[in-house]
Amino acid sequence: MRFDAAVLRGYDAEFGVEEVLLHSGPAADEVLVEIAGCGMCRTDLAVRRSAGRSPLPAVLGHEGAGVVVATGGPDTGLGDGDHVVLSFDSCGRCRNCLDAAPAYCDTFTQLNLFGGRAEHAARFTDAAGGALAPRWFGQSAFARYAVVPARNAVRVDPALPLELLGPLGCGFLTGAGAVLNSFGAGPGDTLVVLGAGAVGLAAVMAATAAGVLSVAVDRHPERLALAERFGATPLPAAAPDLPGRVRRLTDGGAGYALDTTASARLINDALRALRPTGHLGLVARLGTALPLEPGALDRGRRISHICEGDAVPGLLIPRLTGLWRAGLFPFDELIRTYPLAAVNEAERDCEAGRVVKPVLIPEGKSR
Ligand SMILES: [Zn+2]
Ligand SMILES: [Zn+2]
Repeated sequence: MRFDAAVLRGYDAEFGVEEVLLHSGPAADEVLVEIAGCGMCRTDLAVRRSAGRSPLPAVLGHEGAGVVVATGGPDTGLGDGDHVVLSFDSCGRCRNCLDAAPAYCDTFTQLNLFGGRAEHAARFTDAAGGALAPRWFGQSAFARYAVVPARNAVRVDPALPLELLGPLGCGFLTGAGAVLNSFGAGPGDTLVVLGAGAVGLAAVMAATAAGVLSVAVDRHPERLALAERFGATPLPAAAPDLPGRVRRLTDGGAGYALDTTASARLINDALRALRPTGHLGLVARLGTALPLEPGALDRGRRISHICEGDAVPGLLIPRLTGLWRAGLFPFDELIRTYPLAAVNEAERDCEAGRVVKPVLIPEGKSR
């Protein structure tokens, strides 16, 4: 089957929308999904800085949502016409997968970031038969169709706005999951969020939904305005004595801090803003060593990396759609849609901070 996809052929190249070929259908544990929309996540764009570790040419995109149009068999638990949100890939067999922590799967980086499941690589090529990288994050959803492991496809109610749901599989899942799963925050708890992008704003929304008092730090006034609309107290990143201000706003120190910026200064500020036993979660990949100031972790404070919001996607995504229905998780307000052909414009808008969450919508019919 032939269909259009956005292909990245060089780390510094623009995306090119071109015809690709799928030479065989889904395997026994897979489904073929017609993509209704796919969010653009920072990790897609980080491929450009992967120093060759994420193979190209590749079809990126890992926040897809769509309709199942074929299944590899009854064991997938899915049927034609099912609406699904696609999330990250995991093996299902390693110790952490068995322990309901698939984001820490032993093969997470291989399956999602650095090449995918090689056994199925040859079935996906460009129109001239040239190799494409095995699927990205188990999806490669910047395309009209994606073949995905059924394990990563979460069935959702067809009444939901399917084309907007894809970011619930990664970006929004990460922010909300950090608050609800990693921190287990609840009424009366306090949280400071560093960076009010898609992940940070999802964390703010989840905090508000859970009765958690939140403070949001960002350098863009319009992002702070969004954070305030979703229930956070806004605080400009350049404000003097950031830790002191957060401590005053949180009755002596925040119980939780979530950093989405990877800024060493903000991370140290966040640690100083924590109360004793407070927990700082990092979601962004650090580009350099992180100097910690003396005493930063004293009195039970801790710091950990959080991947994919500690989520089991099949459990968290339905929680988030339930909160959306109740008016408590208005993630759709962060989304701007673009036709798939405008993928480069979406990337530029994302990098310039003009859009919080671009979602690419495939157009036209397959041939
Ligand atoms: Zn695993
Ligand atoms: Zn992502």
